[in-house]
Amino acid sequence: MLSGTRPGQDGGAGSPLSAGAPKLLSVQELRTHFRTAAGVVKAVDGVSFSIGAGSSLGIVGESGSGKSVTSLSIMRLIEPPGFVAGGHILFKGRDIVSFSEREIRGLRGRDICLVFQDPMAALNPVYTVGDQVIEALQAHQDMGRREARDRAIALFKMVGIPAPERRVDDYPHKLSGGMRQRVTIAIALANEPDLLILDEPTTALDVTIQAQILDLVKDLRQRINTAVLLITHDIGVVKEMCEEVVVMYGGRVMERGATAQVTGAPRHPYTVGLLSSIPSPAMKGRRLNAIGGSVPSPLRMPPGCPFQPRCPHAMPVCATTPELRPTDSGSLAACWLY
Ligand code: SF4
Repeated sequence: MLSGTRPGQDGGAGSPLSAGAPKLLSVQELRTHFRTAAGVVKAVDGVSFSIGAGSSLGIVGESGSGKSVTSLSIMRLIEPPGFVAGGHILFKGRDIVSFSEREIRGLRGRDICLVFQDPMAALNPVYTVGDQVIEALQAHQDMGRREARDRAIALFKMVGIPAPERRVDDYPHKLSGGMRQRVTIAIALANEPDLLILDEPTTALDVTIQAQILDLVKDLRQRINTAVLLITHDIGVVKEMCEEVVVMYGGRVMERGATAQVTGAPRHPYTVGLLSSIPSPAMKGRRLNAIGGSVPSPLRMPPGCPFQPRCPHAMPVCATTPELRPTDSGSLAACWLY
């Protein structure tokens, strides 16, 4: 079920994109809210999507769209005053929303791993990077230190860290930003997870290193068949990396479908805006098309379609919430134009 829909209307597990084999991950009508002094913030408000084993899906949207809260909810890393107010997160058919802390710890780092935007924040500055990989390995596998160190060196080699035998003994501050992100990816892949969640993995890196890290993820995906959930504000990155895409805005899904459909023939005005703000060589010297206005405060979301105040096609009916419906491109869009 997608954002802005009622149960049974998008079909979540039964939608065209999710038909067929059971999914590795199926997020159904997820609602993650935060209690604040000013009221309840509905950061994620009825979001559904699913990912098959070994496949790739991008969640794209501006800051405040709810995409990172979605990934933290899947990892069960939402802390008070945040809470999962409703919905299901089925991983291999089991609902992890109701898992005990012990069960979720067994899953995290082994079956599902998360790579954050800032590798420096993810790494412990007082341990060598090798020790941090060894710890990740030994937390989930019965492995002696010598074997774990050899495996850490092999992982560093796999993620393209030069002279891995020496690098394992370095502390994080000795490595460049790009190398640190390779280390966090090595840690995430240490136990060959079924699902790798990458939350803006290249935003803190310069453009050349960004491209290298994205190429690395593409290559690793093919080699170890890990499913990838990529969270990004950059729809251009999703075009490069993902088979399917979910476009989020205001905590809800605006459009979802195969990446080729959504980016080749975007139907939701917000998706159109995101795509037209991608820089291209043809735009050299010209101003980029930015989407007018900004994401409203989650405490002051307009009634109905959340994109209404910024939408060039807004009409009176948009004050009522549109449901996700199939469009002629094959995608699903939550917009009264369809
Ligand atoms: Fe939202 Fe209406 Fe614009 Fe569609 S046309 S995106 S429903 S405001």
